[in-house]
Amino acid sequence: MRLVRNQAVLTGRKGVPMKSMFRHTKIIFTVGPATESTEQLRLILEAGGNVCRLNMAHASHEWCRNLVKRLRCVSGELNQPVALMMDIKGPEVRTGPLDSPITLEPGAEVIVCPEAQAPGYRAQSDRIVVSTNYPGLAGDMMPGMTLLIDNGLIQMTVEKREGSVLHCRVLSRGVLGSRRHINLPGITTRLPSMTEKDCIDTQFGIELGVEYFAMSFVRQADDVDLMRRFLSDRGSSSRIIAKIEDQSAIANLEEIIKASDGLMVARGDLGIEMPFERLPIIQRRAVNLCLMVGRPVIIATHLLESMVSSPIPTRAEITDVANGVNEGADCLMLSGETTVGAYPVKSVEIMARTIESIEGNIEVAHNEQLHLKSAKSKILRSAVVLAEDLGGAGIVVFTRNGYLARVLSLLRPIRSPVYAFTDEETVYHQMALLWGVEPIFMPLKTEPESVLDEAFSVLLLRKNVSVGEQLVVIMNVLLEGEVLDTVQLRTVKG
Ligand code: PEP
Repeated sequence: MRLVRNQAVLTGRKGVPMKSMFRHTKIIFTVGPATESTEQLRLILEAGGNVCRLNMAHASHEWCRNLVKRLRCVSGELNQPVALMMDIKGPEVRTGPLDSPITLEPGAEVIVCPEAQAPGYRAQSDRIVVSTNYPGLAGDMMPGMTLLIDNGLIQMTVEKREGSVLHCRVLSRGVLGSRRHINLPGITTRLPSMTEKDCIDTQFGIELGVEYFAMSFVRQADDVDLMRRFLSDRGSSSRIIAKIEDQSAIANLEEIIKASDGLMVARGDLGIEMPFERLPIIQRRAVNLCLMVGRPVIIATHLLESMVSSPIPTRAEITDVANGVNEGADCLMLSGETTVGAYPVKSVEIMARTIESIEGNIEVAHNEQLHLKSAKSKILRSAVVLAEDLGGAGIVVFTRNGYLARVLSLLRPIRSPVYAFTDEETVYHQMALLWGVEPIFMPLKTEPESVLDEAFSVLLLRKNVSVGEQLVVIMNVLLEGEVLDTVQLRTVKG
């Protein structure tokens, strides 16, 4: 993560002068035609991209393989971690292929049927026939229910159900293209939570060594458990981000958060499946629950949407980014802005600048709502309080599995950078997603004092700290044969 030093001395809680700042909230960029070249990937990382999202709704395996190889190379050259997040498409209902778009006028009658039946209906009926990839659709619907096609642009209501066929009436005019997404607000489909394609893609993601899988359309904790079993059966410890996108996910929110390793508030689909005026309420509740239960949380979609075609964002978008930062999200995600947008690097730069500006004004104390169970994690809370009382001292931690860094991140020490040293490459990249954590790769020797000396030298070399600065250090020491967890206040020596 790029450190951003702020010259201003700010005044924090209890009037303690605060040190220079760095960006805590991370940026996810979805990679696509606008960013796939090595040069663009380099510019995106330099601008502050922390996590790269591969969207398997569009990406092929060959394309991913080639991209990941180049991205890892750029990340190594820049000495900057980047987490890979493979977004698994999930159970999705779509319209079938069309040779040319069809204009649907309000009042028109449309037959919706499984793909296999479409040719027959087209031959015998003068009505418009729309096919779907989900043969069970009619079984899940009742007269009066709504189908929303292509981000809700086309609305239809079900008038009659006849076996596997639905007779629908168009409510709003729209042009139907090929293979459009269908949303079914309030309906829990019987589609499997991992389709055949999802299993093939997940297997591929394991081989690619992605740090995170984002699971689409998670409806209940069991869906996450299924993915967890799939991963562990294949020896993968990749972490699972549950994407909440419909009403079932909202009804089961807390159990989904507990089952997963992180949450994504997927506002694109949520805004269609739920009344959109409820979206800000759901977002706030999801972020709060994650901060209580202790899971990273991502806010996704439309944060800087106008930048797909405009070099500057709207004022409302800047406020949306600010809101995500103020609520305490770990990451804000860019989609169209960085896949097909005309200003992908600028989008990341503007997001980074806005985050820095907003974080500089946050005056709240650390996250006191986080439920901590183990004594070890309570020690971390005392380290955060100490760092806060010192006006935002940096926190140094050594971790092989990322656990200590995850808890420190969840405690949200808004003025303190968390310097997380690891000798595990996967953990190094994984930590790029965590709020406030600066991952640093370094071999961890067994002798604590020499590890610490080396860590301080690295921090000095990177200009993260200066001589004479006080740091809060969390480390194990061996005393008379016993391993002790310690929090130490140490001064950086020249
Ligand atoms: C969303 O719906 O906001 C989202 C991120 O999901 P996807 O882009 O995969 O549909």
